[in-house]
Amino acid sequence: MLKYDIITKNGLARTGVIHTPHGDIHTPAFVGAATRAAVKALTMQQMRDLGSQAILANTYHLVLTPGAELIRNAGGLAEFSSWRGPTFTDSGGFQIFSLPDVKITEQGARFKSHINGDKLEMTPESSMQAQWSIGADIHMAFDHLAKSDNYDDMKEAMERTHRWLERCVAEHQKLLGKMVGGRNMLSEGPKTWPSGPERPEQDCSDHPKTEQYLYAVVQGGSFNDLRAESARFAASQPVDGFGIGGVFTADGMAEMLHIVNNILPENKPRHLLGMGQEPIDLFVGAENGCDTFDCVGPTRMARNGSLYTLDGRINIKNAKYKNDFTPLMPDCDCELCRNYTRAYLHHLFRTDEITAKILASIHNEHFVVQTVDRIRDSIDNGNYDSYKQDFLQRYYG
Ligand SMILES: [Zn+2]
Repeated sequence: MLKYDIITKNGLARTGVIHTPHGDIHTPAFVGAATRAAVKALTMQQMRDLGSQAILANTYHLVLTPGAELIRNAGGLAEFSSWRGPTFTDSGGFQIFSLPDVKITEQGARFKSHINGDKLEMTPESSMQAQWSIGADIHMAFDHLAKSDNYDDMKEAMERTHRWLERCVAEHQKLLGKMVGGRNMLSEGPKTWPSGPERPEQDCSDHPKTEQYLYAVVQGGSFNDLRAESARFAASQPVDGFGIGGVFTADGMAEMLHIVNNILPENKPRHLLGMGQEPIDLFVGAENGCDTFDCVGPTRMARNGSLYTLDGRINIKNAKYKNDFTPLMPDCDCELCRNYTRAYLHHLFRTDEITAKILASIHNEHFVVQTVDRIRDSIDNGNYDSYKQDFLQRYYG
C-alpha cells in the first residue's frame, strides 16, 4: 500500500505526506500537468526551481507517441523526462471520451487516433498495462466519463466505471505480482497496446520500478447521490488512493467534495482531477479534503499572456503595461518577477518571442504551486480561515 501520513487535520482539510518511490509529496500540493511528459514551455529543472513536487502525464497521449514501451525502456516516466521526482499518470479515459467518434462497449472504448486516424481500442486492462510500462508512481483507474450530465447517462457511466475498476484492480495486481515475483510468474506478458501483433512474453524482473500504486476514480457528475454511491464503491476496493473525476465547474463542487470525502477512507490520499485554474477552486478543494490537484489552465493562460497576481489576473499584452517598469508581482520570488519588468514581458509578447511564454509559464505555475503550499502552511499553523479570507478578498476584490 502507498504510505500516506496525515500531519494536521481540521475538519475535512488535512496536511500530510505521500511517500512515493521517487520521493515525498507534501500535501496539499499542486501537481504539474506534464501531459506528454513535458510541462508546456517549461523544462523539468525550471519546474523544480519553481517549487513543483510532482507531475502528472497522460496515458492516452504517451501511448500514441512515443509509446509506453519506449518509456519503459528509458527507465520509466521520471527517468525518461528527467523529472526524477514523484509522478502520476491519468488513465487516458478523459481524452478518449472527449474524442468525436468514440464507441463504448462493456469491453472498453474504441476510437480513432487524433494523430493519424488509426483505429484503436483501450480497455481497463490495456490502460493498466500502458501505465505499468510508463512506470509512474501513481496510476489512475480507467473510468467512463459520460458525455452529457443527464442523470441516466451519468448513472450508466458510473456503473460501468465501477465494473471497470474491478478489472483495473485485478490487472494492476497481476502486473505487480509479476514485478515483485520475478521471472517465474511471467506466464503472460502485457498485451500489446493499443493494437497490433502479439508481443512475445516479457521478462518483467528488470522493471525499473519497485512499486506502483493505483487510485480508483470517483464519478457521478453533478448528482450527489451518484457521487456518494461512487465513493462508497471506490472505498470498498483495494486501492491506494482516489481520483475525483468529471468535475468541470466550481458550481456545487464544495458540497460534492464534502459528501465524497466524508465517505472515502481518511487514511488514503485524494486527487482532484483537472481543477485548479481559478485559485478559489484550490481553497474549496483543500478545505473539503483533497490532497493533490492538477490543471493545464495555469500554463495555458500564461502562454496567452494571462497572468496571476495577488490582485487578480491581468493580461500583460494590454497597452497599459507598455511603459510599466515594475515587476509583475513584487512579492513573488519566481524568475520572472525577480529579474524582469512588466514592460519587458509586454514587449516579448507583442513581438511573439518564445521567451514570453517561458517566463509567463514560470510565474503562473509558481503562483498556483505556492498558493497551495501556503494553504498547507496555514492548515498546519491553524490560520487557514484568515489566509483564505485575505487571499480571496484581494484576488477577487
Ligand atoms: Zn512571479
